[in-house]
Amino acid sequence: MTHPRYTRLLDSLPSTVPFVGPEVIERTTGQPFSARLGANENIFGPSPTALEALRQADAEIWKYPDSASHDLKAEIAAQNGIAPENIVIGEGVDGLLGYLARMMIEQGDTVVTSDGAYPTFNYHVAGFGGVLHKVPFKDDFEDLDALITRAAEVDAKLLYLSNPDNPMGTYLSGTTIADALDRLPKGCLMILDEAYIELAPTDARADIAIEDPRVIRMRSMSKAYGLAGARVGYALGAAELIKNFDKIRNHFGLNRSAQHAALAALQDTEWLAHIQSQVSHSRDRLSQIALDNSLTPIPSATNFVTMDCGRDGDYSAAVVRELGARGIFARMPGVAPLNRCIRISCGPDAALDLFAAALPQALKAAL
Ligand SMILES: *Cc1c(COP(=O)(O)O)cnc(C)c1O
Repeated sequence: MTHPRYTRLLDSLPSTVPFVGPEVIERTTGQPFSARLGANENIFGPSPTALEALRQADAEIWKYPDSASHDLKAEIAAQNGIAPENIVIGEGVDGLLGYLARMMIEQGDTVVTSDGAYPTFNYHVAGFGGVLHKVPFKDDFEDLDALITRAAEVDAKLLYLSNPDNPMGTYLSGTTIADALDRLPKGCLMILDEAYIELAPTDARADIAIEDPRVIRMRSMSKAYGLAGARVGYALGAAELIKNFDKIRNHFGLNRSAQHAALAALQDTEWLAHIQSQVSHSRDRLSQIALDNSLTPIPSATNFVTMDCGRDGDYSAAVVRELGARGIFARMPGVAPLNRCIRISCGPDAALDLFAAALPQALKAAL
């Protein structure tokens, strides 16, 4: 018998991807969810013109996509007042985080993130043998000062900051982040994950020069733009940094239909405004539902509301389970003390009605 000769690194890794998807849970339980409120998808859906662009792109699916994503980059450049050379398009923020880890991380290299922050980043770092150092949240906010201090202590090559944050939904002001860059240790690149920035108050946007070599910003088409299934994201940064993605990216990584849909979605600014107002209404309603059930909603700058259940992680896990048993897909933060909370995505009133009806029963059953 002969066996594939894996790397020692691969042999050392667990076979677990960062998230168990709702479809996997549905197959396990044999029960379809009636409200899909666990993955921060945009349940209001994408722009109708993006859907039309998808349909029109159908017939040309036999063609390889434009590997330079020219038109999509041109639109992003125009909207952000930057050059196409400052933009790389990828298979979601998730894909871009993987590319960046591949560009920057060799075995033993150090990286700093918050304990309980976005697990896909950790997954990619571990996949290239990086060593993660985690800093606790401070009062449900990512603790930028502590992240910077730790980065200096461990000579981190990367510092990950999500703004607004997932899973707590809080945000730091753009000024706080821009000012902190001067304290970033030499040779440390900040990844500013702005997956929810379109849904945040305007003061969350950091005013950072695009050629500033200390930062790379990541944006997603999955949340405000409602294209999670298409897998489109983009990163903005200094031209020299961005150019390096061309050494390792899957050059046909982003599918043809997704490029067309993303372009149409970005151009439909009216739909974005509609989504922003729907999300804002939904956040208010979710907060009220939390209060009605004696939970404490954490003020959110995203398309979800994280609710403090006031007990430990075992209790929150039971609440998530009991919600699931009642057809509601929800998730919760993975580590203490954040795991005293459950996290519920925004959605149309019909979905929130189902959640509002199930929550009191789930809370009782979880006791
Ligand atoms: C949802 C989310 C992403 C995922 O973005 P994709 O573009 O869908 O890969 C990235 N970062 C954070 C913090 C998220 O919550």
